[in-house]
Amino acid sequence: MKYIVITGGVMSGLGKGITAASVGQILKNKGYEVTAIKIDPYINIDAGTMNPFQHGEVYILKDGAEVDLDLGHYERFLDTELTGEHNLTTGKVYRSVIEKERRGDYLGGTVQIIPHITNDIKERIRYIAAKSKADICLIEIGGTVGDIESMPFLEAVRQMHGEEAEEDVVFIHVTLIPLSLLGEQKTKPTQHSVKAFRELGLSPDIIVGRCKTPLSQETKSKISLFCDVPVQAVINAHDAEDIYFVPLLLEEQGLGEFLMKKLHLTPLGNRTEWRQMVEKMSSLKRRVSVAIVGKYTHLEDAYLSIKEALKHAGIDLGCAIDITWIEAENLEAEGTKCLDGLGGILVPGGFGVRGTEGKICAIKYARENDVPFFGLCFGMQLAVIEFARNVVGLEGAGSSELVETKHPVIDLIPEQCGIEDMGGTMRLGNYEASLKEGSLAHRIYGATEIIERHRHRYEVNPRYIDQIEAQGMIFSGRNNHRMEIAEIPSNTFFFASQFHPEFTSRPGRASPPFKAFVKAILESSR
Ligand code: GLN
Repeated sequence: MKYIVITGGVMSGLGKGITAASVGQILKNKGYEVTAIKIDPYINIDAGTMNPFQHGEVYILKDGAEVDLDLGHYERFLDTELTGEHNLTTGKVYRSVIEKERRGDYLGGTVQIIPHITNDIKERIRYIAAKSKADICLIEIGGTVGDIESMPFLEAVRQMHGEEAEEDVVFIHVTLIPLSLLGEQKTKPTQHSVKAFRELGLSPDIIVGRCKTPLSQETKSKISLFCDVPVQAVINAHDAEDIYFVPLLLEEQGLGEFLMKKLHLTPLGNRTEWRQMVEKMSSLKRRVSVAIVGKYTHLEDAYLSIKEALKHAGIDLGCAIDITWIEAENLEAEGTKCLDGLGGILVPGGFGVRGTEGKICAIKYARENDVPFFGLCFGMQLAVIEFARNVVGLEGAGSSELVETKHPVIDLIPEQCGIEDMGGTMRLGNYEASLKEGSLAHRIYGATEIIERHRHRYEVNPRYIDQIEAQGMIFSGRNNHRMEIAEIPSNTFFFASQFHPEFTSRPGRASPPFKAFVKAILESSR
């Protein structure tokens, strides 16, 4: 197994995840199987409880793991499906070591960071890498070198470097090259961060410099000299037009070739699908506009996978997507004027009451004006509420998650039906849905059985289904008593899912409902 360790210096938020994913993409093009592990040195066990304001979207994997959004980059760039084991956190590692200690596994010894914590980390990395049957395993260590929390992880990879063959572990350090007030590229922060790296007994093989402008030859030479890496191993990662351009940008500078040499590998192939996809992306002829009505709209990372899935749909259909972010609460205060003229309306997932009435206004607007509408998870629940209130006439219909209501059309099912196996916990990961023959859902997927990823606790209340369907909203996707898809056949495109199709959308293979949504916008704006 070959390991490529990606660390960061100077500051976080440099796009280490995208760099790591791009490195993987390059190696994949050379015919190798690549997997990835993301290490988040925080104490949380997983990202499930984390606020999107702080960390961006919580990404959901097929096994239901709630993980860091970088795993989404890996899945999209490597076109793979990962599991929760691929996201390591301090919380997970310490929990298992403490459990082992309580069981007496350490035979009364003193349990310490070195070797017990570091051994646990190494074991996990090797186990996951082997289990994935890949040739190369990327290991991205979150945070920056020098953070207290990342120390045990850096120590573990340092040990691995000694234990594995020389050509099996490569270190890539991603740093920031800031511009001075005069616009000069400054290398000092990079020098300091490499120094901190060396103090831990590690040395970078490759330095990726993130900079607003392409690195000059002089900057590269300086970094090479002070940080002791060959000049061809100083790679320029200036701001790209789109993250999908990054693999090409790195590859043009010979990163792939350098890695092959370092890892003692020879290219097994030369896949060009990614390049073709990027070329297609650069020549999109039309534009469509989509309103995303949410509550984290000033932090676009909170809806990252949705943005990506819309982009994939656009690439497949030959159009660029202009997203207008609409803060749901503003809609409540100012009305729906801001939606006028926009091609389609998307209401994403969410939790809690803030902004819900604004989202409901947007849904009503889409339904009444026959604007293509796409609801995801909470977006579907609110579409059902809007329909129940304004078409079925169930006054004050709502979700028991939000407010007390006479008509809980969205509810925790167990209380309602005496179904006991569900509890009040989150329904996470892959579940099947059966689609109704001849429905929009059936046409979109071209199948009657599908599997998609979920993350919800509440559902459509079965008690109201007949009443709602009698008025023209149908539940065309179901998993037994659970409603998975709602659609209004009399509208041009009104489609909402309890699941999250955005997580399985890929560049070059857009998620079917995203593609259908964008196609509907294209057709209605003709
Ligand atoms: N809050 C809703 C629920 O728990 C929807 C969740 C979501 O949109 N991911 O069911």
